[in-house]
This record gives sequence, structure tokens and C-alpha cells, in this order.
Amino acid sequence: MGVIVSKFGGSSVADGIQLAKLKKIIEDESDRKYVIVSAPGRRFDQDNKVTDLLYLCKAHIDHNVDYRQIFQVVCDRFLALKMNLGIDIDLEKEFAEIDKNMQNNASEDYIASRGEYLTALVVAAYLGYDFVDTAGLICFDERGKLLDEETDRRLANEILKHDRAVIPGFYGSKPDRSIKTFSRGGSDITGSLVAKAVKADVYENWTDVSGFLVADPRIVKNPEQIDMVSYKELRELSYMGASVLHEDAIYPVRAGNIPINIRNTNAPAHPGTLIVSDTSKKADDKIITGIAGSKDFVVIAIYKNMMSAETGFVRRCLSILEDYGIPVEHLPSSIDTISIVLSKKKINGKLEDILEEMQRRLAPDSLDVYQDMALIATVGRGMNRRRGVSARLFTALYKAGINIRMIDQGSSEMNIIVGVENIDFENAVRAIYDTFFETEEDQWAGFPAEFDEGIKNRLDA
Ligand code: ADP
Ligand code: ASP
Ligand code: MG
Repeated sequence: MGVIVSKFGGSSVADGIQLAKLKKIIEDESDRKYVIVSAPGRRFDQDNKVTDLLYLCKAHIDHNVDYRQIFQVVCDRFLALKMNLGIDIDLEKEFAEIDKNMQNNASEDYIASRGEYLTALVVAAYLGYDFVDTAGLICFDERGKLLDEETDRRLANEILKHDRAVIPGFYGSKPDRSIKTFSRGGSDITGSLVAKAVKADVYENWTDVSGFLVADPRIVKNPEQIDMVSYKELRELSYMGASVLHEDAIYPVRAGNIPINIRNTNAPAHPGTLIVSDTSKKADDKIITGIAGSKDFVVIAIYKNMMSAETGFVRRCLSILEDYGIPVEHLPSSIDTISIVLSKKKINGKLEDILEEMQRRLAPDSLDVYQDMALIATVGRGMNRRRGVSARLFTALYKAGINIRMIDQGSSEMNIIVGVENIDFENAVRAIYDTFFETEEDQWAGFPAEFDEGIKNRLDA
């Protein structure tokens, strides 16, 4: 008998109908012993996620505005679950405790985490499984950094005492026992940590799509599905915006060499996507595994004659950003130029100060800023063995009339990142998808005549 850890995302626990599907999935395979749940997500387009409502409660409290109406909406969703599932559980007592804490200045992390806490209580009662809280098991230090070894030890020690358990996703606690959440979508990380701790045979991640798709289905209509992908490729895609799985959910299971299986709660017979350490054994001739991206980056392009001969230039440049606490997303460079790609959100209104500081400390010949940029990564382990991949990609963008503002090819030769303007983002993703997955036609058709015949031939080879 094996052990399967199954994490169910927001849409899979959104209402009684979804929870009935969850129960059937769990009962269909007795190895599914440990279940991790997110907070209820949207049931329909205009609906709210419970976690968003909880953050809204906190924002109201901070602004001295009455939060009770919003909290009541949260409570009503759980009461509806209790009624629809016919379970016996004292939710009123839990609501009163949370409300009391909210009135006593509870932290944002505590309030946000209650969605997962209440869901786990409900699902545990529904399945007849034990409830195991992660406060005190998933450990962060005082500054909020995850302590992975301590976490692994405590999770293993506690969870293995239970034959079957439901565990809330998204949070753990600091040494002072205050609640600390992961970033949004973090229940995926909880599932991965639990899978590692109990040495699961597989970590199942149940969501609302039948696995990882080549591109975001909200941008590309009916994209192809990926049946197998490596941890590395998936991390790259998740980091760049393919939001199916939190990018930090890869490390724990990867360390334990546990495969991840992305599955669809609404189509449980579909095998989904399997994420494993090495897919090279599998014969497949795909050049591209997936395309992912996101909007709202800022690129600072610095030009300085003889930059590469000046020792410490890049270090000084990066130390300015470090002083402002802003992480660098990408850093493409050439002999006398360096482009620094930053997330607009993380710049947090400090751009002017940073540019001033750069002028002063780096004395560049030019300093250009491109706002409202989107980045798109085209990822594929098969890329480094093929020639002409970038030519094909750039041709597709050229034909779609899209201006490429930046290019970065990682040293792993597993991805090509292009920067385009925000308004071109969706069209660019579609153009890249079409050129690698849809068209059989001559990829050079429509390319300008002045493009050297010889180069075409070489790239085509
Ligand atoms: P959950 O609530 O189950 O954690 P998420 O909303 O976090 O689910 O992730 C699933 C969603 O990710 C899908 O509904 C889909 O809209 C979106 N998505 C973005 N990129 C991709 C992709 N490449 N493949 C599949 N789904 C994607
Ligand atoms: N409920 C949290 C969120 O909405 C965590 C999760 O769903 O994974 O971000
Ligand atoms: Mg998610």
C-alpha cells in the first residue's frame, strides 16, 4: 500500500457539489491518505474567493470601517457547506473566536489563513478524517523565512501519527506562534511540504484544468495539454506566470524525488500532467514544452562605454536595487549595456529615486526606462538541440506586427524570454503558440525580401 498526498485548490472546494467530487476522488483510491485544502474559490465569474474577502476584512479594520458584513459573507459560505454536506460541526464557535481576534487587532496573515483553517475543519468532518493544523508544524523564522528542515521533521512527526488527515494549506507559524502565510496560491507549497515529509509516492494537485497546458487557456483557445514535464521546465513556466502551480511548490518534492501529478477535479479520469525529474527518457520530438508570461515589468537599460572593462560596475548597479529592497527579475546584458528587468509592483513608487541614484553612482552614458512591458518565456528542454528556434519565434512575432523590446536567453538554453509592450502581450503569446503548435505552413512566408537567403537556409537547417 502506498501513500498519496492530494491537494485540492480553491475551485475544487468552492461548494457542496465540488466537495462531493472531492470525496468520490478520495474514496476511489485508498492510498489518498493526506488531503490538503485551499479556501473556497469562485463558484461563478462574478463570485469572490474567500481569501480575497478575508483580506478585505482586514483592510476595513485598518481603515476603521465596519467589516462585519463582509465577514458574514465568509461565514455564510461555510454555513452553506455545512448544510449541503450534512455534517455536524460547531462552526459558530470558530466564527466567534475569529471575530474576537479580529477585534483584538489580529494580523493580516492570521485573518487570511482562516479560510484554509475552516475549510480543513469542514472537509475533515465530511471525509471522517482527522484534522491536523499546520500552526506549529510549518515553521518560519522571525523574519518570515521558511525553516525547511524543522518543518520537515515536525510535519513527519505529527502527520504520521494519523492514518488519514485533512490539513489546511497556505500557512504555518513563527517562533512566537503568530500565523504566517505563504504568498498567494501557497497551498501548493503546503501540499509539497507534506508530500515530502510523509515520503509520498506521488503529490497530486487537483485543480480545474486537466493538467498543465502549453499556454494559458485564458489567452490561447484550447491549447494542447502537456502530459509530462520536468521540474526545471515547470519552475521556469510557473515563475514566468503559468499560475497552475506555485513556483515554490517544486523544491520540496523535487528534493524527495516525488512526482507531481496535476489533475482535474471536474474530469477525474483524465491522467493530467506528470512532473518528474527527468523526461529525457521519454521519446518525444517537441521543441517547445510551454509558453508563459506576465505583464507589468519595467526595464532600465543602462549604456556605458567600456562598461565591461570597469570592475564592480554590475555590483554597484545591483547594490542600488538591493538598498531599496527590490529584487531583479532578469538581467540581460551585452558588452556595454545592461538591462535590468524589475516587477512594477515591487518597485512600489521608488523608480524616480532609483534612477537618480543610478545617475549619481554609475554615471552612465545613457539610462533609458521602458515602462509597461510584458515578458514572455518560451520554454523547452528540446530547444538546445535544435537550430532556428529563436528565428522561428522572432519571425512569428514579426509577422504579427509585434515589436520586441528585449531578448534574454537563459544560459540553460531551455528558454527564450522576450519583452514586448503590455498591449501586445496576448497577441504575442498567441503568435508564438501558433508558430510552434498550429501552423504547418512555410514559416518564412511574408518575411522581408532583404532578409538574407543564406541566413534563412542556415536557420532552417
Ligand atoms: P487552484 O485554485 O486549483 O489552485 P489556480 O487558479 O491556482 O487553481 O490554477 C489553475 C488555473 O491556472 C487554471 O484555471 C487556468 O486558468 C490557469 N492557467 C494559467 N496558465 C495555465 C497553463 N499553462 N495551463 C493550465 N492552466 C493555466
Ligand atoms: N487561498 C490562498 C489564495 O487564494 C492560497 C491558495 O489558494 O493556495 O491565495
Ligand atoms: Mg493555485
